Amino acid sequence: MRVFQCAVMGSGGVGKSAITVRFIHGSYLEWYDPTNRKQFSVDNQPCLLEILDTAGIDQYLTLNDMFIRESEGFVLVFSLCQRDTFEEIIRTYEAIRRIKLPEGNQIVPLVIVGNKSDLIDEREVDTTEGEKLAMEWKCSYYETSARTSTNISLVFEDIVRQLRRNDLIR
Ligand code: GDP
Ligand code: MG
Repeated sequence: MRVFQCAVMGSGGVGKSAITVRFIHGSYLEWYDPTNRKQFSVDNQPCLLEILDTAGIDQYLTLNDMFIRESEGFVLVFSLCQRDTFEEIIRTYEAIRRIKLPEGNQIVPLVIVGNKSDLIDEREVDTTEGEKLAMEWKCSYYETSARTSTNISLVFEDIVRQLRRNDLIR
């Protein structure tokens, strides 16, 4: 089976690992299995997704570039409770375009995720801002909570649909 590679990127502490673990293992902040691979069904078709959780080394830009080269799809995560993390995904997006578009790719499968939607009182970024960015980048925007599991699977289903579409175009 074709293995799709996707990277979860964003500032430290936004919940990249929590989202990945929630999706792969169905748990919150506890796991025992280091393999970030999951077989599941999207639109009644099985798929195998390998998720690169860019854990703890976000600050090393050269590594980030390497992650981008190795990945086909991107989940760009920011925290709804921290405005600077929203600004940060814009920089990551620019890096992705710089690295991916010269390869002849016109489309880069990508999803924007605003995480920690459960922390209602601490919100610093409005839904409309995320939606506006998604419109600009022609991609989807989801507000998730790894803690309560809200919308987590939608994110990865969306990326798989985009990766499949990308396979058909090539
Ligand atoms: P990473 O550095 O992006 O991988 O972030 P982590 O997954 O390690 O999460 C950082 C911290 O944010 C964790 O210790 C959690 O306490 C918290 N966190 C992650 N996701 C959520 C969420 O959806 N809601 C809340 N309230 N906290 C979260
Ligand atoms: Mg992490």
